[in-house]
Amino acid sequence: MVIDANMQVLSNALEKRRDSSLYRQRKVAETAQQPEMRIDGRNLLTFCSNDYLGLANHPDVIRAFQQGAADYGTGSGAAHLITGHTRAHHALEEALADFTGRPRVLLFSTGYMANLGIASALLDRNDRLYEDRLNHASLIDAGQLSRAKMLRYQHADTESLQRLLEAGDGGKTLIATDGVFSMDGDLAPLPQLAELAQSHNAWLMVDDAHGIGVLGDQGRGALSHFGLGAQEVPILMGTLGKALGTFGAFVAGSEALIETLIQQARSYIYTTAPPPAIAEATRESLRIATQESWRRERLKTLIEQFRVSAKSMGLPLMDSHTPIQPIVAGSASQALAWSQQLEEAGILVSAIRPPTVPEGSARLRITFSANHTERHLQRLLDALSYLNRDQV
Ligand SMILES: *Cc1c(COP(=O)(O)O)cnc(C)c1O
Repeated sequence: MVIDANMQVLSNALEKRRDSSLYRQRKVAETAQQPEMRIDGRNLLTFCSNDYLGLANHPDVIRAFQQGAADYGTGSGAAHLITGHTRAHHALEEALADFTGRPRVLLFSTGYMANLGIASALLDRNDRLYEDRLNHASLIDAGQLSRAKMLRYQHADTESLQRLLEAGDGGKTLIATDGVFSMDGDLAPLPQLAELAQSHNAWLMVDDAHGIGVLGDQGRGALSHFGLGAQEVPILMGTLGKALGTFGAFVAGSEALIETLIQQARSYIYTTAPPPAIAEATRESLRIATQESWRRERLKTLIEQFRVSAKSMGLPLMDSHTPIQPIVAGSASQALAWSQQLEEAGILVSAIRPPTVPEGSARLRITFSANHTERHLQRLLDALSYLNRDQV
């Protein structure tokens, strides 16, 4: 039968994937997001969440969520342009506009969809999109969906970008970059990118999924860290599911940008609005994130302590001062072996393998949360000191 032959093709591909240590498996968590979790029936100390500020399970955020559900129910029932856009969503947009210091904000259901929406609403086949090689997959997919000509420059390399920009002609130009690179933890050279954008009449867009809440004054993100505003970076995308501990994403910018997205971003128009209760919860987590600077201070301390100790153990760290602290293993099988070794010691750190990262740069991706304690950190360092490093 034809179906069976097709399924055999899938099975063969899966087998091959397993043989090359690239098979991905889900774990089932039985507790809320927090350092010590119960996962697949075991108690594990985790260092792989993006809940950097420890807000995903915060009692005040949960309370706001519950009140939001009591007021608005569970589902929004429709897209934003029909009846799905509630006062809860609107209030969050206003709070985020205030937070980012921009005239308008538009909520999207996810960061993935926000990136697809921005590129497809702003660009068409006569335009050009420049992307850092290590940009998040959603930005790469956004480029493909937009049908603009996509050019990828070397990671954080402004000379590589400049060469590509100088070869360009006509049409609109968008430069898109992660603010903090999700698998490396380093920052994009935003001031230099902004200068290049300005001199080539290009838009600069920053996806600050890992910077919002974590970097800058009151957690205003990578732009605030560098002292850049809407003049230099007219398009800012941020997500709510990471440091803000809830779900969803937003785009912040000018009146014209936001109105264009409302009219034309298909990933905004043709999807159900997020639950209003999520917006209520996010307004509360945004309040905590901005006011409680100790969470960022705590992260900073953990990160520096970790780096000093890991360095003295000779671990191959990357140049990151954010809560994302990768340890490069090289091969996918080595990254997987390390991750399994840590798991046997009761510690969960994900192995990140191609195609998420380039071939030969598989790694452990350690992430910290303001809720990690000194003792948690010590347990991690102890376990890391026992890693079998013969092959590295
Ligand atoms: C997580 C992430 C996204 C996607 O955001 P979601 O809300 O999870 O869809 C986009 N860009 C970057 C850089 C990310 O890390």
